[in-house]
Parts: sequence; structure tokens; C-alpha cells
Amino acid sequence: MVELFDSSCPFCLIINGKMKAEKLYESEKSIAFLDINPINYGHALVVSKEHYRDFGELPEDVFVDLVHTLRIVAKAIVDAMSPDGFNIFNNNGTAAGQTVFHFHFHVAPRYKNDGLKFRPIVKAYDSPEHMSDYAKRIREKINSTVKLGDPE
Ligand code: 5GP
Ligand code: ZN
Repeated sequence: MVELFDSSCPFCLIINGKMKAEKLYESEKSIAFLDINPINYGHALVVSKEHYRDFGELPEDVFVDLVHTLRIVAKAIVDAMSPDGFNIFNNNGTAAGQTVFHFHFHVAPRYKNDGLKFRPIVKAYDSPEHMSDYAKRIREKINSTVKLGDPE
């Protein structure tokens, strides 16, 4: 059972008006506001209004609403800030850098030589067979679950 509000969660407090944030946009199921510790100025968060811990808990209708909000916010950041580029990303789990366990996307403007690197290390596969083995393991899981878009 997913808890839809968590009183110890900063994003739940913002959504419920108990904590301040620089709000940018709101839809039925999502809200966007500025990240308090931006990687570049204008870095925004697009957050589900209900408290879902991570991607695994997120219902598909909420995901669709979040993506719609993402498109609006990313376009506005580009129009307002004219960055050289931007990143959309989402962290799941402590090992992946998640610090607030309430699902959110980041939208961060990027500039040439801003010093940020998302892929400092590239891990080479040992061989084409080694790479195929990873694809096979993932495909097997996809084939054993309901296909996206299929009626249940
Ligand atoms: P994560 O590391 O979980 O992917 O991202 C969490 C983000 O939320 C961080 O970038 C952090 O700066 C931001 N954040 C944490 N607490 C607050 C807060 O109270 N208000 C706002 N606006 N952002 C927050
Ligand atoms: Zn929350």
C-alpha cells in the first residue's frame, strides 16, 4: 500500500502549502518548482503531487502527467534562459543519488564548460557476447511481463 502523503517529506510539505517553494507550474497530478540547490540557475523539479517513493511505485497515469509537465517546464526553461542544452534526469535509490524519496524529475539548464559531467567513466563490455548477455537478461524480463500499452 503506497502512502500518498508523508509528513516528514519536504516535497509533501511543499505540495500541501506547509513549506515555501518557487512554484513554476501545476497540473492535476504534478507540480514544478525550483530546486533549492541548483546545479545551474533555473534547475527545476517536476514532482508527483502524491507521495510515491520512486519510479517503481509510480502509477502510469501519474507518469504520463509528469511527462506532460516536463515538456512545458523544459520548454519554458529553454525559452527563458537560452542555455546551450539541458538535462532531464531522475535518480532512483541512494546508489543512484536519490536523496528525497518522493518521485521527481530534474530539469537542469546546461552550458558549455559548466564543468558538470554525467558520464565521467565509460565501462567497456569484455566482448560482443558479454554485451549480448546483458541484452538477453533484460529482454527475458520484458517478455515475461505485461507489455507496455497492453490491456491487463
Ligand atoms: P534527488 O537527489 O533526490 O534526485 O534530488 C532531490 C533534490 O531536491 C535535490 O537536488 C535538492 O536540492 C532538492 N531539495 C531538497 N529539499 C528541498 C526543499 O526543501 N526545497 C526545494 N525546492 N528543493 C529541495
Ligand atoms: Zn512526499
